[in-house]
Amino acid sequence: MIKRLFIFTIALLLLQNIFGEIVNIGIYHNNKITSFIFHPEEGEYSVFTEKGKLLKIDKSELLELKYSNNQIHIKSIDKDYGSFKKVRFIGVSATNSFKIKLSKSKRIKVYEDNLFVNLHSYYNYFQLINNIEINNYIAGVVESEVGRSPPPEYFKLQAIICRTYALKNIKRHQAEGFSLCDKVHCQAYNRKPKSELIKAAAKETNDIVIVDSDIDLIVATFYSNCGGETAKSEEVWRQKLYYLRTVKDTFCLHENNAIWEKKIPKIKWINYLINHGFPKGSLKHECDVEYFQNNCREQFFENQNVQIPFTTIRKDFKLKSAQFNVIPEENFVRLEGKGFGHGVGLCQEGAMKMAKTGYSYIDILHFYYEDVHMINLESLDFFKADY
Ligand SMILES: [Zn+2]
Ligand SMILES: [Zn+2]
Repeated sequence: MIKRLFIFTIALLLLQNIFGEIVNIGIYHNNKITSFIFHPEEGEYSVFTEKGKLLKIDKSELLELKYSNNQIHIKSIDKDYGSFKKVRFIGVSATNSFKIKLSKSKRIKVYEDNLFVNLHSYYNYFQLINNIEINNYIAGVVESEVGRSPPPEYFKLQAIICRTYALKNIKRHQAEGFSLCDKVHCQAYNRKPKSELIKAAAKETNDIVIVDSDIDLIVATFYSNCGGETAKSEEVWRQKLYYLRTVKDTFCLHENNAIWEKKIPKIKWINYLINHGFPKGSLKHECDVEYFQNNCREQFFENQNVQIPFTTIRKDFKLKSAQFNVIPEENFVRLEGKGFGHGVGLCQEGAMKMAKTGYSYIDILHFYYEDVHMINLESLDFFKADY
């Protein structure tokens, strides 16, 4: 009977998953966790194992989970519950959240909804999955990605972008048994958000996603600052997407990341160019390096038929952006750059400025993503079939 209840609970969770209300996020992804404390913060939790329901706990109690002989060993302050293969903490109150404290760390992180604990298939540590209502996850992502200072209208548009991005990439970690990880590889998701405004923004934009003219979820890319002009998708990646076009943006020009500067020793710069095929004779160390002005998102740094993509130079010198002028000075070349990030899609500092100026999140999204539509998830029949 107990076993049947366990299977029923898991089946119910999977069913909710199919309809997109719940997502599975791999938390502490790539951290080799072998023991931690689980402590309810809000609500009561039922604890299930593969053998059925083990116990119910509230915030007056805590449990320690330890990796031992390829099993999950559970104990409280005064009781040893034994060892198991799988553990599920299922919140049974109206709102549920829990704290996690890793054994060797003082840091406590809070998450909402449920926690699944598995044994990692090959290695000697746990896999932790936060089984969470999608809007709770989205609010956590928004706060992790942009902090708490932007205006409320901005939180709404960031929630729509993060939701679209999450659903577009929902199968990224399918082989590992969850949907998305909590690192920037997917979207940063650090913990339960502290801001009520962010939680409200995720709820208020409930189920809204951005689609293209084929009603496919768009690749909703964003970055910090475009430096005055956004980039076409094919300038940075191979894929040409009609909605990721060049947009002239004056909103971000006076924001924090609008301009940057970096000095590189001239000899290092010259050697770099020679290694990329620039003729040696034209770049004698004592000679001046040519002045290069990148006016309108030119793609290549070039000289005498040799071209180096600005995106490659950006990566090699860890530059803030791929838009910069090269100004020779005595012993250095000074790179005078614009913007921060890849430049494709939404410019966050420009969008924040627009939100402060009174533009709605719909106006802002249409400004940065060309000819897209905002629709309710329920309209995406194909999505449910594809999920
Ligand atoms: Zn990931
Ligand atoms: Zn911009």
